Formats: sequence, C-alpha cells, structure tokens
Amino acid sequence: MSILVSGIRLPLESEEEEALKKAMDRVSVSKDSVLSASVYRRSVDARHGKITKVYSVLLDIPGLEDAVLSETGGTDVRRKAEPFRAAPTGTKTLSAPPVIVGFGPAGIFAGLVLSKNGYRPVILEKGPELKSRDRSVAAFFDGGPLDEDANVQFGEGGAGAYSDGKLTTRISDERCEYVLAELFGHGAPPEILRNAKPHIGTDLLKNVIKSIRQEILTFGGEIRFHSEVRDFLINRSKLFAVKTDDETIPCETAVLAIGHSARPTFVRLMNAGVLLMQKSFAVGVRIEHRQEAVDRAMYGKYAGHPMLPPAEYALTSRQNGRPCYTFCMCPGGSVVAAASEGDSVVVNGMSMHKRNGENANSAVVVAVSPEDFPSEDPMAGVAFQREIERTAFKLCGGDYKAPCQLVGDFLRGVAPIRFGSVAPTYPRGVTLCDLSAVFPGFVVDALRPSLIEFDHKLKGFASEDSLLTAPETRTSSPVRIVRQPETLECVSVSGLIPCGEGAGYAGGIMSAAVDGIRAAERIMAEYKPIISV
Ligand SMILES: Cc1cc2nc3c(=O)[nH]c(=O)nc-3n(C[C@H](O)[C@H](O)[C@H](O)COP(=O)(O)OP(=O)(O)OC[C@H]3O[C@@H](n4cnc5c(N)ncnc54)[C@H](O)[C@@H]3O)c2cc1C
Repeated sequence: MSILVSGIRLPLESEEEEALKKAMDRVSVSKDSVLSASVYRRSVDARHGKITKVYSVLLDIPGLEDAVLSETGGTDVRRKAEPFRAAPTGTKTLSAPPVIVGFGPAGIFAGLVLSKNGYRPVILEKGPELKSRDRSVAAFFDGGPLDEDANVQFGEGGAGAYSDGKLTTRISDERCEYVLAELFGHGAPPEILRNAKPHIGTDLLKNVIKSIRQEILTFGGEIRFHSEVRDFLINRSKLFAVKTDDETIPCETAVLAIGHSARPTFVRLMNAGVLLMQKSFAVGVRIEHRQEAVDRAMYGKYAGHPMLPPAEYALTSRQNGRPCYTFCMCPGGSVVAAASEGDSVVVNGMSMHKRNGENANSAVVVAVSPEDFPSEDPMAGVAFQREIERTAFKLCGGDYKAPCQLVGDFLRGVAPIRFGSVAPTYPRGVTLCDLSAVFPGFVVDALRPSLIEFDHKLKGFASEDSLLTAPETRTSSPVRIVRQPETLECVSVSGLIPCGEGAGYAGGIMSAAVDGIRAAERIMAEYKPIISV
C-alpha cells in the first residue's frame, strides 16, 4: 500500500526529482525509509497569470503508512487505492454467451473484461470494422454520401474513434486506472499513465482499438460487424434473445452499449417495453481560434515554451440560471462532420496525438432540459436535436455543408458577409449563415452573453474573427434507459443491462469504459465463466 501526496507545485523549469523531494518533506520521511518514489500525475496550471507544474507523487513507505497518515494526513496526503481487479464470483450456468450490443468504449471494455474472464461474449456492432469505417468517413468528408451505418458516430470504436481521445473524467473510480493501463498495454502512449489530463489522439487511438479487438478474439470473444440489433425478444419481462437482420441470437443477458445517437434503437426498446426517460443535454456551436492565440491568452509570455503543451481551456457561465459551458476542447484539432442521419448537419471536434493543427476548437453549449421541450414522449429530446440538425442542413443548401459565422457578426446579430483570419476546418465546407436561424431563441440568448463572459476570462475568446460552426447537438444522450441501481438491469426487463453514454450513465470515453466494466462485473457476479482462461 502506498501513499499519494498531491498538489505539489513547482516552477515550470523544475526537474521531477524536486517533486519527489518535496513529497518526502511534506510527510516528513527520510529518503532511506522510502522503498520507491515516483511521479503519479503531472499537469500544468496556467491560471492567475502564473505557470506552475503540479505533481502528485506516489511514495512506497512499507510499515510507515499509518503513522504518516495520522501525523501528516490531509486532503493532499492519502492512501492510494488498491488497483482494480475484476474477478468472477457467480455460480449460475449461462445457457448462451452474453451479448454486447455496440462496440464503442462501453462495449469494448465490457467485451474485454468478459472475454479475459472466460465468458466468450458475442459483440454485435451495427457499423463496420475501422478500416472500412475510415473509408466511409473519408468519403463523406470529401463530399461523398453519408453512410448511416459508418460515420463519426457509428462503427468499430464508437463515437470516440474520431476524437481528441481525451481521457479526463469527473468520476472518481479505481477502474479508471485499469482503463488507462489497458489502453497503454494496447499501444497508447505512456504519458497517459502520468498526465493529469491524458489524451491519445485519433491517429493513435485507432490502433489501440484494433489491438483490443484482437485480444477479445484471442480470449474467445466474437465480434460481428454490420450486425444491427433490430429487436429484443422478451418473455415475462425476461430477455431471451436479440435479433439482427440475419439471425436470432439466444441470450440470457445482454449489455446495451449503444451510444447517444442510437435513435432507432431507442424507439425499438420502447416498443419492447423498456422504460426510457427524457434527460437534460446541451446544444450549441463549435468555436475555432488559432491555437497560437489560445496559447498567448493562457500562457502569456511563456507561449511557445518547448515544455508547454498546446493550451487547453474549460469555461463556464450561467445565463438566467441556465448553465453554459465550453466542452470537449481540442487543442490543435479540427472540426468534424458528425452527422449520423441523412439531411442533417452535426459538428464535433477531434485532434491528432501531437495536437499540432493551426486551430483550437471547442464546443460552446447551452444546457437544455426536458422543460424546454414539454412533451410526455421520451423521444422529445431527440426531436429537439433533429429539428436543429435539419434546419442547419436546409440553411446551407442541403449538401452537408455547415453553417458558419464570425463571433463579431453573431454578437451584433448581423448577416455574415466575410471570413476572418481563422480558416474553418469543417471538412465538408461551410456556408456563411446567420446562426441565430439555426437554434431556438433561448439558445441564442444564452450563447451571446456567454461568449462575452468567456472573453473576460480568456482574452480574445470572443474576438471579432473567432469562428463559430454549428450545430453541436450530440453532447450527451437525450434519454435515459432506466436501470436498477444494484443489478444495473432495466427496471422493466431482466437480463438487459443498459450502460455507457447512450443509456445516460456516462459522459465521455473514460466514464463509458468504466460503466462497461461495471456491466461486465455485474454478469460475472451472477454467472460462472463459460471456459477457464
Ligand atoms: C467527434 C467526437 C469527439 C469526441 N471526443 C471525445 C473526447 O476527446 N473525450 C471523451 O471523453 N469523449 C469524447 N467524445 C464522446 C465519446 O466518444 C462518447 O462519450 C463515448 O464514445 C461513448 O461511449 P459508448 O460506448 O457509450 O457509446 P458509443 O461510443 O456511441 O458507441 C456505441 C456503438 O453502438 C453501436 N450501435 C448503436 N445501436 C446499435 C444497434 N442497435 N446494434 C448494434 N450496434 C449498435 C454504434 O454503431 C456505436 O459504435 C467524442 C465524441 C465525438 C462524436
């Protein structure tokens, strides 16, 4: 058991050795009593006009932990949690392998844990494997048709496959470390284990996903691409099979890891008697600045320093009680065409591992709650998103170009006539439009003052030439597939375990992966493995 000392602040150009020394000083132990000392997490704090490095340090001090904790403990000194290890404990015999629907982060990690423990899961993914998905996405970006089964939302790797690959999360769960260790073991760069804000990048993430797929197969799992689950067969409130176009697959238990854009599947679930509820989400725009301008605003005179990464920001405000915030910031990244349905425009953002593109982009979104679309229908949030996505499509002439406007013009409420110094990166091309025509009035009324407020916090954020591209609508799931807190099963159907972002229980790659692991553990707690591994 080790001790974690966090919040160690040092000047930018200091060496790691100094952090280790400061940690030992903090808990008053001599170098001789320490078996090992290592940097556990590191980050850069660029707030308040100063740049500091912030470390947490892991100290292995056998026999001294209790004394150190009682004498020097505080919020910055704590015992390091034991590493997470999933282990089967169930005794029931499965009559058929567990099924996993969807191969995004939640389905991938549910599949990995189940296969490594001898459960031979059958994974059904509606989209293709990554190589073929890449071709469809590239063709769409280049002006070709949208493939509704193979796009930025759907296919091997799920919604996170074309992303910045940020692995930050607000959840605190020992499974996060397990996820990082697996990602590293499958080829993610080693710094994800130590950076407080780890990120992988689209270019590296794809090989990581392929490597995990291979391991699942090696352990006896099965992955069937082009296999959309179209029906859930239920008898007396118990799942007994799922149906694709080609086959009926018997199962006692299925993990539902379908993501936030699985609109037809949400409807099928409702028709099968599964309880869905409306839930809050957010909509808004993607803002682009030149990365060097963000670096200058965040780092001041240190901008361009070789020890500093491309700067990131996260900003929040409230407008008449409504939360507005930046989200999914992609340093040195590009805006992507993220539609998954025909006749719609959706934007999002991604970066390569080096984050070395000209522009920084980030979502700027306004919270939307069920009160904003009064209706009893659980799908009312989806209808709200769809209306915005289709309006944007029509406004730009129906060719998947995205509406775009300079911040200055948007704030003044004037029709745009020009681009500025920030070149748009949305790959299908953009059309200058009045963005207030894309959204309901309350969204525009909250976006405008938020941009101005963010400019006070980050100089230049709302500069005349900053670029807005819209609409960002797929921020999180507009529905919750209600589940039992203990068993994780649907309240209305036993054997069916909703998890991840689509079920409304995760927000982002890391928390979806963790929720997938929890779904796997739930199956392992009830059933014994199919084979021994
Ligand atoms: C462009 C982009 C960038 C992003 N960047 C980041 C980031 O940097 N960091 C971060 O934390 N998050 C990011 N996100 C969000 C993140 O990708 C999601 O939170 C995460 O992927 C959710 O994981 P999931 O497994 O729950 O669902 P998903 O990843 O959405 O996976 C669901 C899968 O289920 C499949 N599916 C759906 N219905 C069916 C069916 N009926 N039968 C079979 N298969 C089905 C889909 O094809 C899909 O592959 C980004 C999202 C996008 C779109």
